[in-house]
Amino acid sequence: MVNRVSGQDDAVISRFAPSPTGRLHRGHAVAAVLAHDRARAAGGRFLLRIEDIDPGRTREAFVEGIVADLAWLGLAWDGPVLRQSTRLPAYRAALARLRAMGLLYACFCSRADIAAAASAPHGPEGSVYPGTCRGLADDPARRAAAPHAWRLDMRRALALAGPLAWHDSRAGLVEAAPAPFGDVVLARKDAPAAYHLAVTIDDGFQGVTDVVRGVDLFAATHVHRLLQALLGLPTPLYHHHGLMRGPDGRRLAKRDGAPALAALRAAGVAPAALLAEIRAEAARLAAAPG
Ligand code: GLU
Repeated sequence: MVNRVSGQDDAVISRFAPSPTGRLHRGHAVAAVLAHDRARAAGGRFLLRIEDIDPGRTREAFVEGIVADLAWLGLAWDGPVLRQSTRLPAYRAALARLRAMGLLYACFCSRADIAAAASAPHGPEGSVYPGTCRGLADDPARRAAAPHAWRLDMRRALALAGPLAWHDSRAGLVEAAPAPFGDVVLARKDAPAAYHLAVTIDDGFQGVTDVVRGVDLFAATHVHRLLQALLGLPTPLYHHHGLMRGPDGRRLAKRDGAPALAALRAAGVAPAALLAEIRAEAARLAAAPG
């Protein structure tokens, strides 16, 4: 685990890692500003990573929008933009390694199959997978013929990894507790890697020391910590910040009519003034619980 107190440290590497599935609004900008300022304050590096491996939701126009919005706001990143769509061989290699460790199994279930399994308890990401395919013998012919996901055998993974912890700047030392997620999907039927796998591998690959993101991803960190242990990756420090909320108390989203940064730009808003406002909001949310 990285053991470092905050302050001047040019080894700090933070990142903003948006999924290009829509235009950025203030909520995204909060995460970007906090990650950017953490690296800049330390004289470190701030990276931009585009998480574009969800083929159904990714749009090239949104990638261009992210780049344009950050540049307009004055948030400069270091080095080239990393696109997850260029990282598929690394995800495949990690999956092969976990498979060789006996920790993955192919899953042929549909969402409907899983929902129909009456016993499925609820976990942080909805129903916990009831384990229908866990005991199946590996059948390459069936795999060649039918779309399938790859799931982590959580019980085996936990037994192998043993007790783990990670550090969050607000929550302090957190004991990793990924078990409630059940056998998480690491490669989807329709995508070569699931979020948990891709984000963990790439934070390791890019040498990210400080993960800054919304508290909605706090629970996911339990899974990421486990994957780090299994794949021999270092554990960054985590900084989960409070979320901008819509009128219904839920995370700010398009449904709340949150104006996209692009709309503010088109309306003639001055970027420096907007950035100052977002920075003030970000400082509040970095300190705010929940
Ligand atoms: N790509 C994720 C999102 O846009 C964030 C990933 C992360 O910060 O870990 O929600």
